[in-house]
Amino acid sequence: MQVLPLNEWFPNQDVNLSLIAGPCSAESEEQVLATARALKAKGLNPIYRAGVWKPRTLPGGFEGHGEIALPWLQKVKEETGFLTSIEVATPEHVELALKAGVDILWIGARTTVNPFSVQAIADALKGSDVPVLVKNPINPDLKLWEGALTRISQAGITKLGAIHRGFSSYKKSTFRNDPRWELAIELKRLHPQIPIICDPSHICGNRDLLGYISQQAIDLNMDGLMLETHINPDQAWTDAAQQVTPEGLQGILDNLKPKRESTEDEKFTSQLEELRGQIDGLDKEIILQLAERMKLVEKIGEYKKNNDVTVLQVNRWDDIITDRLNLGKALNLNEKFVRRMLDLIHAESISLQTEVMNQEKTA
Ligand code: PEP
Ligand code: MN
Repeated sequence: MQVLPLNEWFPNQDVNLSLIAGPCSAESEEQVLATARALKAKGLNPIYRAGVWKPRTLPGGFEGHGEIALPWLQKVKEETGFLTSIEVATPEHVELALKAGVDILWIGARTTVNPFSVQAIADALKGSDVPVLVKNPINPDLKLWEGALTRISQAGITKLGAIHRGFSSYKKSTFRNDPRWELAIELKRLHPQIPIICDPSHICGNRDLLGYISQQAIDLNMDGLMLETHINPDQAWTDAAQQVTPEGLQGILDNLKPKRESTEDEKFTSQLEELRGQIDGLDKEIILQLAERMKLVEKIGEYKKNNDVTVLQVNRWDDIITDRLNLGKALNLNEKFVRRMLDLIHAESISLQTEVMNQEKTA
């Protein structure tokens, strides 16, 4: 795939392609303009996003204002100078967006899963040189992501990028969409010329972990961030829990540690940083998983207390040890290390449950 470097997409324009911000949905002209003005007042100069056509899981919700919202984005551009971006899901969306002068188009996760839809969009893009970003498909299938990027590339689009927004999972998780960083990293390894923007908003599903995921994206050398920003997030018509105010966005950005400057040997440092970034990511993952485990332990403690069962059940503990040690062995982990780690986790679990036991019974 032939891809133009990100810094050549808008030559001679003062744009910050490493930040895409704006509301999940364009709700009204006032909301679109007020959010843009507040971003500008904070000194930010993002690519402005707003959903004009909204794919909703269930019918009956707000599905976007459609065409009538496009002039609102033109107003944002005239007033703030921000470039604008929206999601397109059909050839008709592409045509209307191009006619309205939208600067960057993106293909949503629900569209990337469908090669027919992606091909129809690719056909509609032929002859245009608009930048196009392709979100990862909902399911963790790298081939579908690559396939969609290839179809857009074959339509002649060279300002091509990817958006990593996490993957749906049936298992309960801290995240709305599991980051599965390894898939974004593999896309980068296979196609290093394709910039990848991380979308922490749709990964997290709530605003609390946005800073953490944004930092992880930077540590992994991603090329930019897409963060949903709303003038009044709690009243947002879509994705209220994950949106932040322009002030909240600035707070997140201010707290980010920038990529370390590379030294003489750029290739060495960037490989080292990539590996360190992966280690950072995994360490944080381990802590998150431990927090999940301890939450479950407390829940079990409650249950045991309410049913007058003892904290320690030796058989269960014995099964855990055998099972985890076997797994560790199969993965070539040092047995003593795994044993020590399990003992530590077990001791903490017992102490947590004893604490729960000493509290009043709930129902
Ligand atoms: C969005 O960006 O608002 C959106 C619908 O995202 P996704 O396609 O990642 O679900
Ligand atoms: Mn959204």
